[in-house]
Amino acid sequence: MKTDLELVSIGSELLSGRTLNSHAQTLGAALTAIGLRLSRDTTVPDEIETIQSAVREAFERTDIVAVSGGLGPTSDDITRDALAGLFGCRIVVSPSALAALHKRFNERGRIINSAAERQALILEGAETLINSAGAAPGERFFPMAGKVLFIIPGPPNEFAAVLNDHMVPWLKKEFKDAVPLELRVLTTEDIGESDIVTRLEAANFQCLETSIGFYPGSGKVEIRLTAPREQLAALEAVERDLRSILRDKLIGK
Ligand code: ATP
Ligand code: MG
Repeated sequence: MKTDLELVSIGSELLSGRTLNSHAQTLGAALTAIGLRLSRDTTVPDEIETIQSAVREAFERTDIVAVSGGLGPTSDDITRDALAGLFGCRIVVSPSALAALHKRFNERGRIINSAAERQALILEGAETLINSAGAAPGERFFPMAGKVLFIIPGPPNEFAAVLNDHMVPWLKKEFKDAVPLELRVLTTEDIGESDIVTRLEAANFQCLETSIGFYPGSGKVEIRLTAPREQLAALEAVERDLRSILRDKLIGK
């Protein structure tokens, strides 16, 4: 399976300016930490056909896709219907999610109603991923051979709970040999990006087998170097060159 994953973030509020989409950051950080890569985040509104085409296209590029949001009991929560339509499967009650829902409501002294019970619905054939932070569970679904879909609730704390409790442990098992990229970070001060580039060009700086990113902000520029562990020697050589070229402008160590 490919080590690149995609996210489809679902929610009209993420596109209208009401809510900052934080899931790409949360998922990107979690994947980077275990040696995998979030290769794309597609944000779509609560519209059945748009959700379907985004998920279909994501699976054309990659093997593992996560979708988030729209799993709750309200009328704008249509993710499950969209996915059932796309993959031609039924929606069924998850006994374990229903039990967890009843327990949750009992503990809070609340009477469960049928709207709340809708949160125990999953795609037929999906595995229920119990949500330790909220009512609607996540799901792991195998829509076709060699493809895996994670369906994750939208509230950021619930997204993080299902990600950390279920998705990351599953990925770690699936990709036992994945190794996080090696990272080196340099920070400059009192020199702008264009002056940095000019210096690098003048020194004929080469960045072999290493990815380089420049992140300016607050009068500083953070330079991040990454490479696979097998390229550690190349990465260290690039770091040494950079430190020498920019030595009078570096801060920290
Ligand atoms: P619920 O059962 O709570 O309705 P849900 O899975 O249906 O959960 P949504 O209804 O899409 O999720 O979103 C619930 C809340 O989480 C909303 O306030 C929404 O703005 C927020 N949310 C959803 N997706 C994201 C995201 N990508 N980044 C940040 N916040 C998000
Ligand atoms: Mg909702």
